[in-house]
Amino acid sequence: MVRVSEPVKVSEAEWEVLRVIWTQELTTSQEVIKVLETTMDWKPATIKTLLGRLVKKELVGTQKQGNKYRYYPLVSEKETVQSATETLFSHICAKKIGQTLGDLIQQAELTKEDMAWIQHQLDQKQPVAEITCNCIPGQCECHKEEHDPTNEKRLSK
Ligand SMILES: [Zn+2]
Repeated sequence: MVRVSEPVKVSEAEWEVLRVIWTQELTTSQEVIKVLETTMDWKPATIKTLLGRLVKKELVGTQKQGNKYRYYPLVSEKETVQSATETLFSHICAKKIGQTLGDLIQQAELTKEDMAWIQHQLDQKQPVAEITCNCIPGQCECHKEEHDPTNEKRLSK
C-alpha cells in the first residue's frame, strides 16, 4: 500500500469501482464491468473511464499481462474511509464533533461486539477541558454561544 499524504478525494462513482477492486484485489476491467454493469446500470465505457480516473489519481495501479491490464488498489479501504471522514469532519466546528459522533452512534445498527469496541474506545479516551472553535467567524454559532439552539437542546436533555 502506498501512503497518500494528501486527502484522498473519491467521487461516489469512483467509490463503487474501488469497492470492487478492494474485494477482488487484482482484477480486470471485464470483471469490474461484470459487477457494476447491471447493478449500477453503467455502460462499459463509463466504467473504463472511472478506472482510468482512479489510475490517474494514483488510487489504483495497473499491471500489464499479455494484452490485458490488471488493476489493484494503491489505497486501502480503511484509509479511504478515514480520509473521507476527516474531510467531512473538517466541515464541522471542532466543538460539534462529539455531538456528531453521538448522533452517528444513535443512528447506526450495532452489534454487541461493536458496542463493546466503542465503549472500549471511550474508556481509553482522556477528556479535554475545553475545545477551541476552529471556524472562521460567521461560519459557525460559537461566536454567539448564548443563543446556540443546539447547545440549549443538549443542556435541556
Ligand atoms: Zn466553531
